[in-house]
Amino acid sequence: MSPSGSTGHGRRPHEQSRRGLRTAPRAVPWKARIGFRVWLVDYNIVMYDALTSRYTFACPARGESRVALSAFRSFERLPGAAHPAVFRVRFACPCGDEHDGLVSHDELDWAPLGLHDGVFLNLMTSRVESLAAELGELAATRIGAGEWPWSFFCYPEERPRPVFPSSFALLAPGDGSLGLAVRCPACHALSVNLVSHEHVDLPFYNDAEVGVVGHVFAGDAPRTLEKFREELYSSRFDARRLGL
Ligand SMILES: [Zn+2]
Ligand SMILES: [Zn+2]
Repeated sequence: MSPSGSTGHGRRPHEQSRRGLRTAPRAVPWKARIGFRVWLVDYNIVMYDALTSRYTFACPARGESRVALSAFRSFERLPGAAHPAVFRVRFACPCGDEHDGLVSHDELDWAPLGLHDGVFLNLMTSRVESLAAELGELAATRIGAGEWPWSFFCYPEERPRPVFPSSFALLAPGDGSLGLAVRCPACHALSVNLVSHEHVDLPFYNDAEVGVVGHVFAGDAPRTLEKFREELYSSRFDARRLGL
């Protein structure tokens, strides 16, 4: 079934609520409801918990697994689904395997800041809802004051840049650090930084200094996780300060 092929286009949300679709309260916008239903049918469902900073995915071995953003290994924006954009991510599961899951743009970039809305919040308890609202206000204030939830060092531009997780391409752990390939939102070149787990997992926590691979990656390379890991192990990292 294609996303646009979902049934229910002609119905108003409150009509469906009366039929007892309890996971989707009537306040949820129409678009969010359609998106959620498509995920339910076709994909690994994801939810973000603002209290624990963990995404919940389905796991074939454990039923369900909670992972931090730093457990993600690759990010690929799917063609077609623009509102909201949807990313296929590969994540390292606590069961020891890697699985694919789908994450909406909102869940990736805004949920960690407590700024997400719609069906995901409505699936949580009222306590989480109010906490998310507070987090959201706090995050908005900090961004307004020039603090950025995530940043990286763009090698071709020789400067630090603010970024959101939707610009991450690949992540690979090693030696207590994380290799992070980022597609620069400004110049679109790929840069590889060596960062801490906290740098990825905790919004507004930015490493003072990161390792930077000192060469420009041609085209889309490295395309695969395996190539990326090889690249990391054979690369030299230069330290760069991240202060924006
Ligand atoms: Zn698993
Ligand atoms: Zn750049």
